[in-house]
Formats: sequence, C-alpha cells, structure tokens
Amino acid sequence: MGMKKAGNVIDLQDQNLMHLLEIMRDHDDVSRQDLAEISGLSPAGVSKLVGLLIAKGIVYEDALVSRGRGRRAITLRINENAMYAVGVRFARHYVKCGLFNVKGELISSCYETLGTVSVQETVDVIQELIARTLEDSGDARERVVGIGISAPGPLLAREGKIALISNLPGWRDISLVHMIHRRFGIPTLIEHDANVSVLAERWFGKGKLSDNLVYIAAGRGVGAGILVNGSIYSGKSNVAGEIGHTTINYNGPVCDCGNKGCLEMYCSSLAFARQAKEIAAAKKPAGWPAASRLTAEAVFELAKAGDGEALELVRRAGRFMGIGVVNVINAYNPDMIILGDEMAQAGEPWLEAIKEVVRERVIEELRKETTIELSELEVEPAFLGAGTLVIKKVFENLSQLPTNALVSG
Ligand SMILES: [Zn+2]
Repeated sequence: MGMKKAGNVIDLQDQNLMHLLEIMRDHDDVSRQDLAEISGLSPAGVSKLVGLLIAKGIVYEDALVSRGRGRRAITLRINENAMYAVGVRFARHYVKCGLFNVKGELISSCYETLGTVSVQETVDVIQELIARTLEDSGDARERVVGIGISAPGPLLAREGKIALISNLPGWRDISLVHMIHRRFGIPTLIEHDANVSVLAERWFGKGKLSDNLVYIAAGRGVGAGILVNGSIYSGKSNVAGEIGHTTINYNGPVCDCGNKGCLEMYCSSLAFARQAKEIAAAKKPAGWPAASRLTAEAVFELAKAGDGEALELVRRAGRFMGIGVVNVINAYNPDMIILGDEMAQAGEPWLEAIKEVVRERVIEELRKETTIELSELEVEPAFLGAGTLVIKKVFENLSQLPTNALVSG
C-alpha cells in the first residue's frame, strides 16, 4: 500500500487519532487514562497520540480535575478555534453561508434568496456569500480548512457534480465543487443535504452516541440520511435514503420519479399546504386565513392553538409520515430516528401521530429499541452539517496536517 490514499481508506494512526478526538467530542473532561479506557488503546499509545494532537494545536491540556483518593488528572479538550469551516447550504429557494468552528458553533452567517433558476446566477450568489464570509472572518481566515456545501439531492458527491435537482432545471452535470475550488483555492466538498444532516445530528445533536441513526428531512421533499454502524450509507451513486419515493399507496397517483403513491406525495410540506388550501377553500373554517394566503406554518399555529380542523390535518400528515418511519425501522433497525425540516415545525401533535402509527405497526421488541425525536439543533442540520463535513474530513486525515499548522499565535 502506501503512496496515494484511495477513497475511504484511512491509515491506522489516523484512525486512532480520529477515535480519540471523537471521544473528546462526545465526552467532557476526559483524561489520558479515560481515553485509554474508552478506546482500548494502551496508555503509552494514547500518550503518544495525544502528544501529536497537542503538537498540531487541535487539543490542549485543561485544568487538573480531582478524581478522588487524591488522584488528580489533567483533562484534555479540543481547541474549538483550531480551525474553521465555511459551510454553505444550497437549498432550492435560498443559499446560506456561514463560518463554523470545530464545536459546530456558528461564528457568522449570511443569506440570499434565489430568485432565479439560472445556473450561472446561482453559482454567482454562492460565490459572493463565500467571499463575504471569508472577508468577515478576520484572524480566523488563515485557519479556514475547507468549504462544505450541502445541496438537495440526488447528486453525485464523489465527482462533486450535481446530477439532478428536481424543480431546478439546468443543473445536470454541473461541477459546482470545481467552480468553487477554482475561485477560492480552498479544499471544497459537496454532499447531499440529508447526509450532512445526519452527520450534524451525530456530532452535535440528539444523535450523539448513536451509531445507527436516521435523520429524516420532512420538507418540500422527504429524504433520509442514514448512519449504519457509524458510517453514512450512501449507496452506489450516493442517492440512498430517498425514502420520499418509496410507495405507501401502490395504486396511487404517478409521481415525478415514475413511481406511484410515493410517501412525499402525502406528507411533504408541499402536500400539506395543498391539503390545507383545499380544506380552507371547501370549508372556510372560522379563524383561518383565505386559501390563497394560507401557509403550512399558519396551520401549525392554528393546530397548536387547538383548532380542530388544523389539528386533524397535522395528525393526518403525521400518520402518513409514520408509515414512512415504520418502513425505515424495518429496513435499517436504527436506535434513533430524528425528524426535522419544515414539517417538524408542526411539533408534538405531528410527532405523536407518527409514534401512534409506529406503535400500531412495528413489533414491540424492535419498536422498544428505537427512539423517535424531533431535531433540536439551534442551527438547521443541513447548514451545520455542511461545516461538519469539512471538519470530519480533516479529522480523518490528521497526519497530513502539518505540526503547529493550526496553533494560533
Ligand atoms: Zn416518487
């Protein structure tokens, strides 16, 4: 072996370095001894690796913590300002860009709506926001290690190309990564929005410590990021997780994808808004805005205020989503499912309807090992995950990072 690294092959030392960083990320106040116990590596091995991480400026020694019986240990911490990532969320109708530190904290951000579907204008907007973020980053600029982009899928992340974005014509075979890299000269990565979301939930959200985690983005489309035994399950062309196009009604209406009765035709935010407008037009319920001005959020608010008609709609969408969740549980046996994006704004009544269907349709033993939660990340996972993607890449290739490269002055 040796020479050039191929794809996902990580050498042993890098693997161990990354494992120690993951332990420090997931647990507070760990000492070298704790690291040895949790990782199973020898104390001497841990000392050597920690020395490397300190030399590279990624880890620093913190206070002495008393550990009983007079034992005192030095705790180790990840230097959250050791490096920064620019994260870009490229969504169908807007672009968000921000600077993230190693802890996933958002340092600055900017936003632009996309009024156009022209590829060149969209690329211009993305580049302008990245340029603004870099300009505003001050001293952090020299520690920006990469640009991560999350985009609606399916896309071919390996070649950095966006193969197809439904509702955004003209994006076939566009090499966004190469355009961005050429402009800024900073390593650039792109990934499916659902995949970076599950990463964000695993690193910084409720999915901490879960290695069999599914994040479901229930927005205008319905997609899932799937973590199997700690790794993203991406499929041959990186389009796995398109659960929105699994059939829940085999004789249902034809979907854009060619299948019939797809899940997202019943429970996406677009479907929800359409159903709500139909109710508004047909029944004109008291207290509802006119159908033409009705939004999904307005119906969520009505439901939360106890409006029966709105509550029924939210519960119905939840029950459809529940069928999708049942299928995910049976297919992947996750220990946790986190639901996010627009529909998750419907909150508890929606979640309860999902859980109700799961109780009805999944065998008890399997159901008991699956926690179902709403996302609680402060920064939306498809945005935070774009930054996380970059940090993860650096964590996986630590030996390539020059010693002291990241130590601040
Ligand atoms: Zn479909």
